[in-house]
Amino acid sequence: MITIKNLKKSFRTEEVETLALNNVNLTVEEGEFAAIMGPSGCGKSTLLNIIGMLDNPTEGSYNFAGHEVAGLKESQRTQLRKGNLGFVFQSFNLIDELTVYENVELPLIYLKMSKAERKQKVREVLERMKIAHREKHFPQQLSGGQQQRVAISRAVVTNPKLILADEPTGNLDSKNGIEVMNLLTELNQEGATIVMVTHSDRDSHYAHRVINLFDGQIVTESKNRAVGAAL
Ligand code: ATP
Ligand code: MG
Repeated sequence: MITIKNLKKSFRTEEVETLALNNVNLTVEEGEFAAIMGPSGCGKSTLLNIIGMLDNPTEGSYNFAGHEVAGLKESQRTQLRKGNLGFVFQSFNLIDELTVYENVELPLIYLKMSKAERKQKVREVLERMKIAHREKHFPQQLSGGQQQRVAISRAVVTNPKLILADEPTGNLDSKNGIEVMNLLTELNQEGATIVMVTHSDRDSHYAHRVINLFDGQIVTESKNRAVGAAL
């Protein structure tokens, strides 16, 4: 599903140039659950943002589901992103002014789905994420774990083929963290490909494969023997 070759990413600010990714080669198969780990500043979020087409590589190639991303026009890229990608962030990134229901409905509005169809899909995912009883609440009225369940609902309401998660349990206590990891595992077992950035050894055990980044380079990759066998 994802093939990255000789990828480099540098950021230029006034005085400094930072090489955030330095010659990354990576393949992620459809149906895989991959974890990216490594110290702060090693390039994990940069890599995830490029995979999510939120940012462009400086050099190298990125092929997503048969499309060479660099060669696409912005409109084609938006089209490819729509419905194919779901994002989950450490800080939830919900829209404070919208209710739980409205936050989750948003991606379906972008897909120009009818109101009736939207209602059915939003209700279904909120039930599943055990947050339906809070649909009229605003994000600030929810606990962290509940906010992340809303964020996951919003990410998966379109049935994306690929879920990208940047430290999805970073702001959660262990009970809520485990719940989020179990939800991601379920979504993966139902067919979604997942690439997750994490600092947590516990979370990495849920993945099929751990990719270790250091100073913008992949230093080791290891397969987990017992998938889903988290502590
Ligand atoms: P953390 O674990 O702290 O989230 P990370 O591995 O996700 O770290 P990145 O956010 O990918 O790290 O950053 C990699 C490097 O690129 C860092 O040195 C960072 O300062 C730099 N960087 C990231 N984004 C930008 C930007 N927009 N402009 C300039 N430098 C950037
Ligand atoms: Mg990061």
